[in-house]
Amino acid sequence: MTYVLITLIALLLLNYYSSSISQKLFYQSKQSSMIEKCQLAADEIATLEVINSATVGNTLAQLGSLKQNRLLVTDQTGLVIYDNQGLENCYALFPEILQALDCNDVFSWQYTYHNGTMQSRAATPIVTFGTIVGCVYMMEQDIPQGAMIKSIQNTVLRITIIMEAVVILFSLAYSNTFSSRLRQIMSSMRIIQQGDYSHKLKMTGHDELTFLGDEFNDLTEKLQTSEEKRSRFVSDASHELKTPLASIKLLTDSILQNHMDADTMREFVEDIGSEADRLNRTTEKLLSLTRIDGQENEVSEIINMAPTVERVARMLSPLAESNGISMEIDVQSDSPVLIQEDDLYQIVFNLTENGIKYNVPGGKLRIKLTRCDDNGILEVADTGVGIPEEAVGHIFERFYRVDKARSRATGGSGLGLSIVLAIVRRNRGQISVDSTPGKGTVFTVSFPVFDTEEASQ
Ligand code: ADP
Repeated sequence: MTYVLITLIALLLLNYYSSSISQKLFYQSKQSSMIEKCQLAADEIATLEVINSATVGNTLAQLGSLKQNRLLVTDQTGLVIYDNQGLENCYALFPEILQALDCNDVFSWQYTYHNGTMQSRAATPIVTFGTIVGCVYMMEQDIPQGAMIKSIQNTVLRITIIMEAVVILFSLAYSNTFSSRLRQIMSSMRIIQQGDYSHKLKMTGHDELTFLGDEFNDLTEKLQTSEEKRSRFVSDASHELKTPLASIKLLTDSILQNHMDADTMREFVEDIGSEADRLNRTTEKLLSLTRIDGQENEVSEIINMAPTVERVARMLSPLAESNGISMEIDVQSDSPVLIQEDDLYQIVFNLTENGIKYNVPGGKLRIKLTRCDDNGILEVADTGVGIPEEAVGHIFERFYRVDKARSRATGGSGLGLSIVLAIVRRNRGQISVDSTPGKGTVFTVSFPVFDTEEASQ
């Protein structure tokens, strides 16, 4: 409707403009020629000694160029002395004559659309020795010019109607397609709202709505992936919790149903205890994952990395000793980074614990701190079992374990590295892994350095 209205207004303005321009062009040429003719007649009449119907008639007859529809000569009171149509001795008090008797050259015109005629009138005073003695009045009907103006107006009007019809048709067709495509998007949105994330919106063409459709499909794909991840996480988590619970149930049933000696019963109860510990560890890790996912904007502080690394090494040295792993800390360059201390502790702890757990007796573990450009680098390298190439891409996934039996035996839940990745990302850091099966693994974590005067002292 807006398009139709705007074009209609523009076309009507064009109509008005073209019609008034064509009339104005005619008016300008007509005005000068008619006033000239009137002045010529008035000048000739002014030279006459006696001004009456006969003398004026004779004089005008000599001026052959005066071929008007109506030609009147009046005296100074407006009384007609001469009329080329014979109506003399009456008063002709036309507005043009009254103005001419007031010493003005006058021109006026009128266009009548319905019969397409242009009527022009002109009058000039007759002046003898500085006195107005009468006036000459002319009136012409221009049928060809009138017809021409009428035909211009009709043509422009026809073009206007055709153009407006095209605009209306185009607008109707466009708005119809546009709203049907919008309806298509809306109905797809409703389907997605009801939970069918596999639904795809099919849009053809190359306009903005097609791009909107593509974006919409990308969005639903992401929703589908995150929904799949969520349900996989829930089923993995329940499986993780179910396994130790099933073991506990089995062990308690055996204790209750069988008569066993005190030593066997003690063994069973110890097993129940270690399953309960595993359950505890898994729920703690799940809780810390949920915490990391939920708390995006925890307040961080600028801290040096070395003290936290040393604290973790102290904590894990008994485990390293019992596994026969020699641990070494190599602080080549300490760096101040913007992070929560608990987060840094968790990263170093999980990587170091893995370096011990997935190592071989007599193996080595080295934690190195260096600085490269504007990044503080933490490197945890072990000489352990390594990670097969096809598994490297999955180790940061939740509940993923390369060797399930080994991971379980060492109390792993498959959540440690996914926690590390989430924390590293939250603190604008990066993590990479380089591993050779049978030789060892190197995890490298980097964070942007925050050099402040206080930190560098
Ligand atoms: P888990 O609790 O099982 O240790 P993680 O998320 O910490 O879970 O690790 C995922 C898997 O990646 C582990 O099960 C293990 O197979 C593998 N992995 C992690 N760190 C190492 C390492 N330093 N050397 C060899 N394999 C490792």
